[in-house]
Amino acid sequence: MSGGDAARTVAGQARPACAESASPEGHLDEALRRAFWQSLNRAPLPAMSALEVAARVVGALYRQVAQAHEGPNGCRCGWEPDPDCDLIVLEAHLAAALMQPPEPDLAHMAVLGRA
Ligand SMILES: [Zn+2]
Repeated sequence: MSGGDAARTVAGQARPACAESASPEGHLDEALRRAFWQSLNRAPLPAMSALEVAARVVGALYRQVAQAHEGPNGCRCGWEPDPDCDLIVLEAHLAAALMQPPEPDLAHMAVLGRA
């Protein structure tokens, strides 16, 4: 995914009203939220501890995805990891999500619906 795609997703995406998401981004969004809430339901954590874990996981995922693009056997999609620039993009997404008005808690509903 290019930086342009990411920026467009943050700026313009309207979330689907139901738990079924049409786009690949929507599927991943839903899966991550569900995993987060399911884990906290099983093993509660202080709020910031839980969010710090989530942030560390995003950093670890970045490292893994970047690693998958290195070397002769790496992914050939054309993306070249640039940790400095990519971190700015990720921080912008984090900030944008923080500033969004609260939305109906789809994650909780999804968890309850499938428990
Ligand atoms: Zn790739």
